[in-house]
Amino acid sequence: MDRGRPHIAVVGGGWSGLAAAVRATERGARVTLFEASRQWGGRARTLESGASTDQDNGQHILIGAYTETLALMAQLGVALPEALQAQALSLRFPDGSGLHTPGWAQRWPAPLDALAAILLARGWSWTDRLGLLRATTAWRWRGFACPADWTVARLCAGLPPRVLQDMVEPMCVSALNTPPERASAQVFLRVLKDSLMGRGYPGYRPAQMLLPRQDLGALVPKPALAWLQQRGAQARAGCRVTALRHTPTGTHWRLDWVSEGITEADDFDAVLLACTATEAARLVESAFAQTGFTPEAARWVGMARGLRYEPIATVYATAHPTHAGGGTSPLWPADTALMALRSSACHPAQFVFNRSRLLGLALQPLQVAFVVSAASTDKSALEQAIAEQALSQLDWRLELQQTVVEKRATFACEPGLQRPPASMAGLAGLWVAGDYVAGPYPATLEGAVRSGQQAVDGLLEEQRQQQLQAQ
Ligand SMILES: Cc1cc2nc3c(=O)[nH]c(=O)nc-3n(C[C@H](O)[C@H](O)[C@H](O)COP(=O)(O)OP(=O)(O)OC[C@H]3O[C@@H](n4cnc5c(N)ncnc54)[C@H](O)[C@@H]3O)c2cc1C
Repeated sequence: MDRGRPHIAVVGGGWSGLAAAVRATERGARVTLFEASRQWGGRARTLESGASTDQDNGQHILIGAYTETLALMAQLGVALPEALQAQALSLRFPDGSGLHTPGWAQRWPAPLDALAAILLARGWSWTDRLGLLRATTAWRWRGFACPADWTVARLCAGLPPRVLQDMVEPMCVSALNTPPERASAQVFLRVLKDSLMGRGYPGYRPAQMLLPRQDLGALVPKPALAWLQQRGAQARAGCRVTALRHTPTGTHWRLDWVSEGITEADDFDAVLLACTATEAARLVESAFAQTGFTPEAARWVGMARGLRYEPIATVYATAHPTHAGGGTSPLWPADTALMALRSSACHPAQFVFNRSRLLGLALQPLQVAFVVSAASTDKSALEQAIAEQALSQLDWRLELQQTVVEKRATFACEPGLQRPPASMAGLAGLWVAGDYVAGPYPATLEGAVRSGQQAVDGLLEEQRQQQLQAQ
């Protein structure tokens, strides 16, 4: 092996693995990237349907505060304005009520744009507006910090019911994918702080919503693979890594993988596990099969296996108006491609996206996607409930196209959650990345990308230190 140029195996071709592979290649390492599935992108991927517009495994939203994801896309040559529709913070319901940043305030610096949205929220009384302003000012004074065991429901207990329904619940569910009664207030406050007070990627304000105008594959997976292949990195889809162990000399890691039923193996200077938490735990276990666990590794596996998950379902459909007043297309506000919905046990969707507008398709018939966080995993019951919700809240008759239920969409972001760290003491050359790895963010694309990049930086620094010691 070339000692000056470490050979790194990255296991998992989701956004964390792709970001890690790009970072490692950029920093001069030789990279082999393994992905178990035939498709790249993991939980943010395009489904191969053969139809003219490919559907994703789930509708995703980015925000301007996703600085590392947006920088990665730009590095890969993705034209951001063409790939993402930027719109001001908007949590408006079909009746026009809720938060929406007016056009004239959209150029104001953060958090003044959010202030305008709060002061002009439709359907809110002055008690609602002032209640929210008082609470956000108090959170800001306390440095957006709170006790680790608080839930979002506890943090927001004094807020008026309208603010809870129109803002806290949709924001909590969309950012943490965990209902306020079970969601971590600390993580919620961190998200709020970064979107209100943080920095946005150049050209974007942090709270700005960025809605994909192309399929998810076009945002990172496809351009990342092209970028990697141009620079000599190996990218192997359909290769499931099955085991991991130290080589007899103890200086390298040997990886076994299965591709088309054939088991192969090779040695690497270092391994980055960017697969799911369950798979990473299984592979860490395999590394200790001969020797028995170290306490550190046993703790790591316990944390990874102890994560609980929340589902997300996406219901793709064509919407037909039923309103008695006639008209040929369902009503949709001109300045947004996303509407919040009143959700309940019988009407489970929290959001509906206008895919016709986002993807530049014909507006009739209208193509839409309903998003249901913490969804029931019974598809037919879910589809029936969404059809009823569309009829009662939007006056639409739905023609269902496809429903994708991701049972383990994100980890449940609960108070006091212990997330596994990116490395284990005494286990050189083995690092871990993924949205679930210890960090300040909930399970997001930005969390995944940052984790992949930071793990590579840690791994290469560790290699550098080892080389210095060996000299
Ligand atoms: C429906 C849905 C909607 C979402 N909406 C949003 C949103 O709006 N905004 C947002 O920021 N985030 C959203 N998320 C979360 C976001 O998609 C994830 O946080 C992110 O994609 C996680 O990336 P990852 O690389 O950490 O993990 P993953 O995407 O899970 O990648 C792990 C990869 O490892 C592969 N793998 C597993 N085992 C092996 C093995 N043994 N060998 C080789 N490969 C292996 C898997 O096939 C997978 O491709 C959503 C998620 C879902 C499911």
